[in-house]
Parts: sequence; structure tokens; C-alpha cells
Amino acid sequence: HLEKFEIIITDKDLKEKLSQLSYPYFIIDLMHWEKHTEKEKKKVALQASQSYGVIRDYLWGERLALTWVNEEFKEMANFPLDKITAYEGPTWEFLREKGIEKVVLLDPWAEKDLSKEDFSAGAFIIGGIVDTGGTKKKTTPKIGEELEKRGIKVLRRKISLKGDIIGVPDRINLILEILLKMVVEDKPMDDAVLEVQ
Ligand code: SAM
Repeated sequence: HLEKFEIIITDKDLKEKLSQLSYPYFIIDLMHWEKHTEKEKKKVALQASQSYGVIRDYLWGERLALTWVNEEFKEMANFPLDKITAYEGPTWEFLREKGIEKVVLLDPWAEKDLSKEDFSAGAFIIGGIVDTGGTKKKTTPKIGEELEKRGIKVLRRKISLKGDIIGVPDRINLILEILLKMVVEDKPMDDAVLEVQ
């Protein structure tokens, strides 16, 4: 009768693969791509590229996933898409393939702040949205609604500074960095926000 046993893995590559599996995916959802002007699309692509730089400071490139990736985005993205997880289909298909049923949607319109209890989710989703003219108000909650329609459990959570979202940068790469400081480095939300400002 075996109660406890240990498996010792000596293969370096396998070891790294296994340790990656215990981390969630950080997804930039490009569902609203077509709502952007040409100039805004370039900004989305730039912030995605900066997100690639950020993820590599904390985890591995492949833990950053981009969904709804299309040809236009591929042309605008000047970073190696093969080093991240680039997915051409909708987010719910990606989640289904990975067996992820519960996600956290980073949403400035959410009632609740992101907290430690949410960290067990299989993925964190950031809207691939850039606002220059205020034409994309409340587009983040729509990402959540579409996922819920497909049976995904969505926890909508906001990031705030001293209880207010004013003062929190809304760039995709900075939201990702705040998230990584909290999830990977276990930092309190206010500290994480202040460190990226
Ligand atoms: N116009 C969008 C809206 O009204 O829903 C906001 C877009 S914001 C520029 C880009 C993304 O950053 C959002 O989709 C969201 O995932 C994330 N984000 C920005 N500020 C946030 C905050 N205070 N808390 C949580 N997520 C935030």
C-alpha cells in the first residue's frame, strides 16, 4: 500500500514543461480587433509586443496567449509569434482545447477587486483593446458575456489603487505586469500598481 511517492525527473526539458503546466495562461483577447482604427490597431500590436517582453521577465513566452489572431495582426506584430501561443480562433475554443473551465476577466467595470482567491483560475484574460476616442466603452464585459454563452465560468475582476480604478494604467502590457507581480510574485495590489506607474 503506497501512500506517498516521489518521481524524480532528470530530463531538463521535461522538467521545464511540467513546471510550466502549473501556471495559468495570460490571454490577450483580440475579439474587438475590427472596432479599432488603423492607428489604434498599431497600438494594440505594440502593446502586445511589449506584453511579450513582460511575460519573459516573469514566466515563459508560451504562457502568453493571443486569441482571434488574424493576418492583419500578424503583419503588424513585430515580435516572434512562434515564441508565444498565437491562436487564430475564438477564446472559448482555445480554453476548451486546454481544458480550462474557469477564467478571470480583468475588467475595469467589475464590482470586485482581483484577490488571491481568484488565482486558481486556469487563465487570466485581458481585453486587446485600445481606446483613443472613447468609442469602445464597456467592450471588456462583452468578452465575458461571449465566454459565458459558451459555458465558461467567468470571474470579472478589477484592479484598483486604494479602492479606485483612477490611477491604474490601462495599457494592456501594464495590466499584464500588475497581474504578474500579484500572481507570480505574490505582491499586494497597491504595491503592484505603484511599481508599474
Ligand atoms: N474601453 C474598454 C472598456 O470600457 O471596457 C477598456 C479597455 S482597456 C484600454 C484594455 C484592457 O485592459 C481591458 O479590456 C481590461 O482587460 C484591462 N484593464 C484596464 N484597466 C483595468 C482595470 N482597472 N482593472 C482591470 N482590468 C483593466
